Amino acid sequence: MQQIYTYGTYLKDKFGAKVYKVGINISGFTCPNIDGTVARGGCTFCENDSFSASTDEVKELKSFHLNLESKKNPYLDKQLKQLELQFDAISKRQAKEYGAEKFLVYFQSFTNTYAPFETLKALYDKALSFDNVIGLSIGTRSDSITEETLSYLSELNKEKEIWIEFGIQSVYDETLERINRGHDSQNVKEWILKSKDAGLNVCGHLIFGLPDETQEMMLETSKEAYEWGIDSVKYHPLYVVKKTALANEYMRGEFTPITEEQYLDVLVKSILMKPKNVSVQRITAGIDDDSLLAPQWCRNKNIQVKHINEALKEVGLKY
Ligand code: SF4
Repeated sequence: MQQIYTYGTYLKDKFGAKVYKVGINISGFTCPNIDGTVARGGCTFCENDSFSASTDEVKELKSFHLNLESKKNPYLDKQLKQLELQFDAISKRQAKEYGAEKFLVYFQSFTNTYAPFETLKALYDKALSFDNVIGLSIGTRSDSITEETLSYLSELNKEKEIWIEFGIQSVYDETLERINRGHDSQNVKEWILKSKDAGLNVCGHLIFGLPDETQEMMLETSKEAYEWGIDSVKYHPLYVVKKTALANEYMRGEFTPITEEQYLDVLVKSILMKPKNVSVQRITAGIDDDSLLAPQWCRNKNIQVKHINEALKEVGLKY
């Protein structure tokens, strides 16, 4: 049985230590697909409520949102403090519970390049100054990153490990329109290629089960994403969260979620097409609380992974 090349293995081989990602959520960041810059309402599957800053640590940030045109950021000191507090709490827990030795600061929630350059620079620099931090992973949208930011990240990448995570989702523009993505596939391709040219490490997020997509389309998306040179991949099934536009479509019978069998089939085929050097960071997704509307198989991650391994075993692979 051949072990799939995972992101954990990549990090262990490169740094000779247990490296954990520390997910950070900075208040004041938002998304151009929510604030009206490119669209309103966000992607149809996105639960936007979760994107309003809601921590008690920085209450005044609740109504404050940055964008690329923001000239001033009066809350930068508070954001830096928030970063420090979150990193400290999470990294200590990861060290205690899992034996984590080194850390990658993961700017996870919101669009983490969608702010004035000086804000981004201050946050990235601060994150890299923490003990045992070997680099950054920055989740963003391809329409929300500037040449200036890319060039700065490229400089940082000479000394540290810098990743950008782009939501690719689908290479079909009709699908991207259907989910109100707010940018087209060409835009994602352009910025992934630019990031690669700048020497950065790129992780691409793929979603299987998007509205009206066939297996052939999902595999074409995988193929193109691999061809663009992504270094790592996150696979997700599309599930329906309550209080989203997709939930309304589902309730009206306009959207049918992917079945577990369909997901396993397309996932295994996509993994078989994957170049060996592309590490897998996520093989499925789900949510085990009241917010999940459908499909129910996305509730229990352990069972999902068990079924994925059973499906992979048939082709001589394991996760
Ligand atoms: S890009 Fe991300 S944060 Fe923005 S609306 Fe879509 S899913 Fe939500």
